[in-house]
Amino acid sequence: MSQYDYDLITIGAGSGGVRASRMAAQMGARVAVVEESRVGGTCVLRGCVPKKLLVYAGHFADDFEDAAGYGWTLPEPQFDWPKLIAAKDKELDRLNSVYLRILSENNVDILDGRGVITGEHTVEVAGKSYSAKNILVAVGGWPSTPDVPGIEHVISSNEALDLRQLPKRIIIVGAGYIAVEFAGIFHSLGVEVTLVLRADTVLRGFDEDIRMCLAAEMEKRGIILKTESVVRGIEKQGEDYSMRLAGGELLEADLVMYATGRSPNTAGLGLEEVGVKLNKKGAIVVDEYSATGVDSIWAVGDVTDRANLTPVAIAEGAAFAQTVFNNNPTRVDHSNIPTAVFSTPPIGTVGLSEEQARVKYGKIDVYVSRFRPMKYTLSGRDEQTFMKLIVDTHTDVVVGCHMMGLDAPEIAQGLGIAMKCGATKAQFDATVGIHPSAAEEFVTMREKRPDHEGPSGD
Ligand code: NDP
Repeated sequence: MSQYDYDLITIGAGSGGVRASRMAAQMGARVAVVEESRVGGTCVLRGCVPKKLLVYAGHFADDFEDAAGYGWTLPEPQFDWPKLIAAKDKELDRLNSVYLRILSENNVDILDGRGVITGEHTVEVAGKSYSAKNILVAVGGWPSTPDVPGIEHVISSNEALDLRQLPKRIIIVGAGYIAVEFAGIFHSLGVEVTLVLRADTVLRGFDEDIRMCLAAEMEKRGIILKTESVVRGIEKQGEDYSMRLAGGELLEADLVMYATGRSPNTAGLGLEEVGVKLNKKGAIVVDEYSATGVDSIWAVGDVTDRANLTPVAIAEGAAFAQTVFNNNPTRVDHSNIPTAVFSTPPIGTVGLSEEQARVKYGKIDVYVSRFRPMKYTLSGRDEQTFMKLIVDTHTDVVVGCHMMGLDAPEIAQGLGIAMKCGATKAQFDATVGIHPSAAEEFVTMREKRPDHEGPSGD
C-alpha cells in the first residue's frame, strides 16, 4: 500500500491538466484533479472554443453580403446576440460533460475547490489535506490589466464572451491575439470598434508584412486603430465610458475591454513556500521535462509561460505522463509551432518572421504573393490575401511560412507538417498545387522578392 493518497494530484482541469491526468491514469496511476471552477480550463470555457464560435457567427455577416454577387437575394438578416450566447453556452456544457466523462471513465477523482500546496507531497482542498507522490501544477493564466485610473470599469475577454447584450460602441485596449480577434468579432456583429494600442501596429512579434496587412484590412473594414496611444484613464458616466489618451484625446464607448496579456495563476498556491521557483512574470520555472526544482512537483501549460497555446499544453501534459508514469523521459519540441490568429481576416503562421530569420540566418530569400481570393471576384469584396515564404539561402530550407486571408489557419496546419519535416523550397516547388485554391500559391511562388523592396514588397 502506497504511503500517499494518490500517485498524482493535478491542480487545474484545463487542457494540459486533463490530458496529463487521463494519460497517467491509463498508465496505472491513482490520480485526482483539483478544480475550483468547471472542468475544461481556459480553452474550453473562456478562450479558444467560445471565441471561435463567435468568430463563426461574425463570418455570416460577410457571407450574407457576398451571396448577392452569386445570385442570391436575401431578406435583411437579423442577428440575435442572446440567442448566440445561449447556443454557445449549450455547446460549452456539452464539452464540459465530455471532459467530466473522460475523467470518470479513467477513474480520475475530481476534488472540488481551490488547491493549495502545503508541502512537497501535500495539497489542501476545501479544508482537507491530500497526499500525492507527484503534484502537477496546471493552473493556467488569467487576464492581466495595467494599473490605470478607472481600470475597475473595464471587462476582459472572460466577460466579453458572456455579455448580456452587444454594445453599440466598444473600445478594446491591446493589439495581441485576443484584442485583434475580439475587434473582428464585435465589428462583424455590427459594433463600432476602436482599438487602442501603444505600438505602431498590431501583433508585435509577428512578421512585419503580416502585421501591416492585417492592420490595413482591419481599417478597411472600419475598425478604428488608435496607434501609439497611451491610456491615461477611464471614467464611467451613467451607462457610458470615456477614455482619455495621453495628448488629451477623449474616446467614448458603451464598453471598454482590455486585452493586455495574461499572467500565470500562481499567486497564493503555496509554490514558493515549498521551494518552487517563479520567474519575474510569476510563471513557474521548469526544465524541458516540465520538472520544477522540487523533485515531486511538475508544471505544464500557460502557468509555465512557454508557448501559451492549448495544443502545447496538451503536448506538455502528455510528455509529463510519459516521463513520470511510463518510464519514458519525453521532451516537447517547442520549435516551429504553427499558430493562428482568428482575426478578420485570419492569420496562419509557422516558423520565423522575416526579421527573426535575417538575424538567425543572415542571408534569406523571401517570396510573397498578394491577391484577391477567388471567392471575392464575384462578390466584389475588397479584401486581399497575403502569403509569404522565408527560405534560408544557404540550405534552401523553408524557415517561415505566413499567411493572412481566408482559410489561413486551415492552410497553416499543413505547412507546419512540411516545416517539421525540414522541407526545402525545392520540395515546396516540386509539390503539385491544388487548383483552384489559395493554398496552391505556397507551391507556385517562383520570384524572389528583390532585397531592396524590404517588408511589404511594394
Ligand atoms: P498578447 O501578449 O498576445 O498581447 C498583449 C497586448 O497587450 C500587446 O498588444 C501589448 O502591447 C499590449 N499591452 C500589454 N501591456 C500593455 C499596457 N500596459 N498598456 C497597453 N497595452 C499593453 O496577449 P493577449 O492577451 O492577446 O493573449 C494572451 C495569450 O493568449 C497570447 O500570447 C497567446 O499565447 C494566447 N492566445 C492564443 C490565441 C490563438 O492561438 N489564436 C488566441 C488568444 C490568446 P505591445 O505589443 O506594445 O507589447
